[in-house]
Amino acid sequence: MHKDIATPVRTQEILKKYGFSFKKSLGQNFLIDPNILRNIVSYADLTEDSVAIEVGPGIGALTEHLARSAGQVVSFEIDQRLLPVLEDTLSSYDNVKIVHSDILKADVAKELNEEFAKFKDIMVVANLPYYVTTPILLKLLMEKLPIRGMVVMMQKEVADRISARPGTKAYGSLSIAIQYYMKAEVVMTVPKTVFMPQPNVDSAVIRLTRHAEPPVHVIDEEFLFEVSRGSFAQRRKTILNNLQSQLPDGKAKKEQILAALATCSIDPTRRGETLSIIEFGQLADALYPTFR
Ligand code: SAM
Repeated sequence: MHKDIATPVRTQEILKKYGFSFKKSLGQNFLIDPNILRNIVSYADLTEDSVAIEVGPGIGALTEHLARSAGQVVSFEIDQRLLPVLEDTLSSYDNVKIVHSDILKADVAKELNEEFAKFKDIMVVANLPYYVTTPILLKLLMEKLPIRGMVVMMQKEVADRISARPGTKAYGSLSIAIQYYMKAEVVMTVPKTVFMPQPNVDSAVIRLTRHAEPPVHVIDEEFLFEVSRGSFAQRRKTILNNLQSQLPDGKAKKEQILAALATCSIDPTRRGETLSIIEFGQLADALYPTFR
C-alpha cells in the first residue's frame, strides 16, 4: 500500500512534481493530516456495498481513504490541472472514477446509474470547496438521489447554521432546508493547521443522516422553503410582518395570513427563529390555498 497522500511531505512532493499552484477561487485547501481523514471516513460507515460520492478530490487525499473503505468512489473535480495528478496518485486503486465536471452542472444520478446501479448504499463524503458549500448540498438533496447521508467538511459558521436548533441565532432557512431531509450534527471541529494552504476560516465536519420519514409531511416542499425563507427575511421582524412583505401580494392578504397562523396556533408576534420545522410545515400547508 502507498504512503498516505495527506502528509505534508508527500503533498509537497506531489505539488512540486506537477508544478501545481493553488487556486483560491476554487476553494483549494488540501488536507495534510491522515488522522482527520480516517475520522471523516469512519463517520460515513462505508462498506463494500457503498458508493462514495466525493466533490473535489484535489490531489486525492480523501479519495484514497474512501477507496479503501467503499466499494466504489465517484469523484467530481472541476480543475482540469488535477486530472493527471489524480491519475498518478490514485493509480493503485481500481475502484475510483474521476469525473471532470463542475458538480453543480453534473448529472450525478446518471453517473451513478450507468455503472454503479448494483451498489445499494450511497454516501456523500467530501472536503467541500467552501465558496459553494450551500449550493452543492442543496443540489444533492433536491436531486432526490437515494443518498443515505453525507459526511462533509465545511466552514464552521455554515456547519453551525445547518445544524442549528430553533431559538438560536444560527437557526434560519438553511437549517430548515437541510434538516427537513436529514438529521444534522457537527461531529468534529477542525483546526486550520491541517490544511495546505491554511484557510482564513475555521472548519467543521458535519454528518447528515436521512430521516426515515420527514419530520412533517407537506403539500409542497418548495412552498415550505419559500415560507421559511420569507419568515427569516428580516430577523428582527415578526413572522406576520415578514410573511406580509415576502409572500406575493402579502400586504393585501393580511387576514388570510392571520387566519393561517391561528389555524396552527402560532402567535403572529413570534419571530421566525422560534418556529420548529413542524410548525413551518403546518404553516406552509395552511397558507398554501391562498398563495398557490
Ligand atoms: N479533497 C481534497 C482534500 O481534502 O485535500 C481537496 C479539497 S479542496 C477544499 C476542494 C476541491 O474542490 C478542490 O480540488 C477544487 O478544485 C474542487 N472544486 C472546486 N469547485 C468545484 C466544483 N464546482 N465542482 C467540483 N469540484 C470543485
